[in-house]
Parts: sequence; structure tokens; C-alpha cells
Amino acid sequence: MSNDSQVVASRLTEMSQRIADAASSTGRDSAEIQTIIVTKFQPVSLIRELIDLGVHDFGESRHQEAQQKASELSIDPITWHFVGQLQSKKARQVAGYARVIHSIDRDSVIRALAGTRGDDGSTADSWGATDCFVQVNLTDDPGRGGVADGGLEALVERVLETDCLRLLGVMAVAPNDEEPDAAFARVRGYSGRVQKLAPEARSISAGMSHDFESAIAHGATHLRIGSAITGNRPRHG
Ligand SMILES: *Cc1c(COP(=O)(O)O)cnc(C)c1O
Repeated sequence: MSNDSQVVASRLTEMSQRIADAASSTGRDSAEIQTIIVTKFQPVSLIRELIDLGVHDFGESRHQEAQQKASELSIDPITWHFVGQLQSKKARQVAGYARVIHSIDRDSVIRALAGTRGDDGSTADSWGATDCFVQVNLTDDPGRGGVADGGLEALVERVLETDCLRLLGVMAVAPNDEEPDAAFARVRGYSGRVQKLAPEARSISAGMSHDFESAIAHGATHLRIGSAITGNRPRHG
């Protein structure tokens, strides 16, 4: 192993220990918490190191980069999670490689995905319905992505009536200017609202490198961890 991969390996070990500790301190079973390693801006070589260390679930947030990586790594046992803002005109392509889309936040995206099935054998058909989360915006800034509070139920209904999507639950990113505990408590409230319409959709995608312990305390089932494992991202724009 190179020095770099030893560093990544020890970060992974430390992270799984911290997740286990955070789970047990709130009476949860860490087996119900899935960790997705977010590799945006990181090279394919790092993803390969992580695969060698046993990681299968990777998150990306920019379509072009994700698509490129998915094609380079197509023979590897990877589940791709798309966690970034989704443009409706790119949504069909995203569903071609992403098995889980965390960022469903508007009707136009759902309509674009609904067109996925049937007309192109290389798309989501190969694994059936695409698992997804509805993303909730915890800020007042529409630019942050996510559906606004008042639109949640209508969006959930739209997902439920769309055959090619299977709703897992809610996703959110904690705002910069709010305590994570307060933000993730709100997310849990949104999760309750979703479960009124879709009792199976109990998952909560929340928690990043700096706030995952709080997210776990508030019921997160899918953590999206980037820099704590990969190190700092190379700066882009
Ligand atoms: C980049 C990103 C993450 C990971 O963030 P870190 O702070 O590096 O752990 C998680 N979720 C989304 C939506 C992201 O864009």
C-alpha cells in the first residue's frame, strides 16, 4: 500500500468507529446506517483505492464528471448515488448509471425520469426502478436545491405515481447558519410527513463530514461523507 492509501484506510477505519459510537450513544444499530463516500472532484485512482478497501457506495454531484467516472469504472462493483442538483434535461442520463438519486426536488425532473423507461435499453431498465429520495430545502434560498416545505406532499405524490421511481425517503443538506441539531430535527419531521403518504419510505439521507453525528442522532440512515475520507477537495471555481 502506498502512503496515501494508508491514510485513506485509516480515515475509513476511524470514520466507521465514529459512526458506530454515534449510533450506540443514541441507542441505534449502526447496521441500519449506510455510508456513501462522496468523491466529487476526486480522481478515479482514489475511487479505486477505496474499492480495494471494500467501499461500494459512491456519491457524485456533477453529472458530467459522474458519467465519466461511471464509464471508466464500469466493470467495478459500484453503486453510484447521485447527490447533486439535477437538471431535468440531464436526469435521464443520470438514471443510466446512478442506482440511487438523492436529489429529486421538482416535477420536471420526475417527468424527465418517467421518460427513461422503454425507449433506451441502456438506461434504468437494467436494474428496474431507480431508488430515490425527495430533497427538502432547509433554507429560504431556492438556489440551494430541494423542495420548499409547502411542496413536499405534492412532490411525494408525484414520485409515488411514477413507476420507474421507488421512494426511499427524504434527503437534506444542513444550512450553514443553523445548528445541525435543529436542522436535522426538522428533517425528521419531514420524514414523518413523507411516511404518512409512503409508510415504507423511512430512510433519511443526511449528514456530511462535519455534522454526521448529529444526523445520526436524528435518525439518518444514509450518510454522505466526502472530505473526512478523501481529504480536501481540489478547489474548483
Ligand atoms: C459534497 C457533498 C457531500 C459531502 O460533503 P463533505 O463535507 O465533504 O463530507 C454530501 N452531500 C452533498 C449533497 C454534497 O454535495
